[in-house]
Amino acid sequence: MVLFHLKTFGCQMNVYDSSRIVGLLAEHNMEPTEDETNADIIILNTCYIREKASAKIFSELGRLNKLYLRLKGKSPVFAVIGCVAKAEGENIFKRAPFVSIVLSSQKYHLLPELLKKALAEKEIIAKENVDNKKGKKTKLSHLINTELSGLEKFACLPVTKNTEKIAFVQVQEGCDKFCTYCVVPNTRGREISRTEKDVLEEVNNLQKLGAVEINLLGQNVDCYNGLDENGEKSSLAKLIKKIAKFENVKRIRYTTSYPSEFSDEMIELHATEPKLMPLVYLPIQAGSNEVLHKMNRRYTKEQYLELASKLKNANPNIQISSDFIVGFPNETEEDFEQTLDIVRKVKFIQCYAFKYSPRPNTVAAKMDGQIDLKIKSDRLKRLQTELRKSQDAFNKSCIGKVMSVLFTDISKVDDGYIIGKNEYLQPVIVKADTKLVGTIQNIKIESASYANLKGKII
Ligand code: SF4
Repeated sequence: MVLFHLKTFGCQMNVYDSSRIVGLLAEHNMEPTEDETNADIIILNTCYIREKASAKIFSELGRLNKLYLRLKGKSPVFAVIGCVAKAEGENIFKRAPFVSIVLSSQKYHLLPELLKKALAEKEIIAKENVDNKKGKKTKLSHLINTELSGLEKFACLPVTKNTEKIAFVQVQEGCDKFCTYCVVPNTRGREISRTEKDVLEEVNNLQKLGAVEINLLGQNVDCYNGLDENGEKSSLAKLIKKIAKFENVKRIRYTTSYPSEFSDEMIELHATEPKLMPLVYLPIQAGSNEVLHKMNRRYTKEQYLELASKLKNANPNIQISSDFIVGFPNETEEDFEQTLDIVRKVKFIQCYAFKYSPRPNTVAAKMDGQIDLKIKSDRLKRLQTELRKSQDAFNKSCIGKVMSVLFTDISKVDDGYIIGKNEYLQPVIVKADTKLVGTIQNIKIESASYANLKGKII
């Protein structure tokens, strides 16, 4: 049996890709190992979203190669896949010549064959090098495919064998929005959607294997427009309605939304479909229209507020989470105040806030008016304080309420307690029989801290 060690960097999409890669390689007699020192193959599934992402990957490659040379006197087959592979291409071989395979995320279905080729070649070369009296080393081939090829990979993947209660299904990939700070349109390509049939088959299989919560993934999931059974373009709302019909599926989530693509059909669905969780992840990034324009985000603060209020009117249980970037080039104090203002108005929960950092080959990285790190840090701190206030207030408002919780783990800290997530992805801890892990229970919330809620089963 060939052992591979797969390391995943970045977003939920990469985590999903990695889980499909494990299934794919299993069909070719390759088994995953957690032990990074004992693998025949090392695969890095990479992310390019942050500054210095490539540097991190090259340093990880160097570290692992040295580790093997020290321990075993030889290195495994190295494969770099995903967004850094797409962005850096041939450059990876120049900087890390011991790497054999470089593949974009839309080509990972080719991985088994390329790995077999590299393993076979490595064996021949090892033998040749032993026989070679002059001590001249033969070099490994460099196998590369960084094309973006749409939906091809999905057709080549084996049926997933994931038996987790919470399952992820990619429905859409790529992005046409070209936000000025983002690398995704270059690394993941243009928007493409899987057909409804393809998605529904995967969901059906997952729910038969035990999944009760389905998370639909897409860089721009609101733009889902895969073909339906009649060859017509579908929509995210139509797809969700079909998924909700599977009896074992109890909860449906989707991510990531783009505010100006969020449809009335989806707003209505949030009012009528109980399986659709009432937490809407709707990244705004900034509250100033000037900054939004420079980011090439195609909505205004006013349009965002209108959408938030439409959602909350359609379903008063809805809460909104968001991403924020502070210190975007030329962001003034007044611009930043607009971000604080929208946080106070929308009362977001479960947010992520970051200091702007230039991403390679993006428009914003070349803009004048880059903001001093001290100012960025100060703004981030002030934003986090404001976000914490609304999270705290929401957590406290949960006390006394009955919430539905999907339990997934046994507490490692508190003996006899189990942990799960409620509708709003808040961690909830209760004292209960560990047999309840994997089930959904109604919990009366009795106390709340910033980090979690505690309650009892009713
Ligand atoms: S919408 Fe903007 S931030 Fe999101 S993936 Fe597309 S380009 Fe990147």
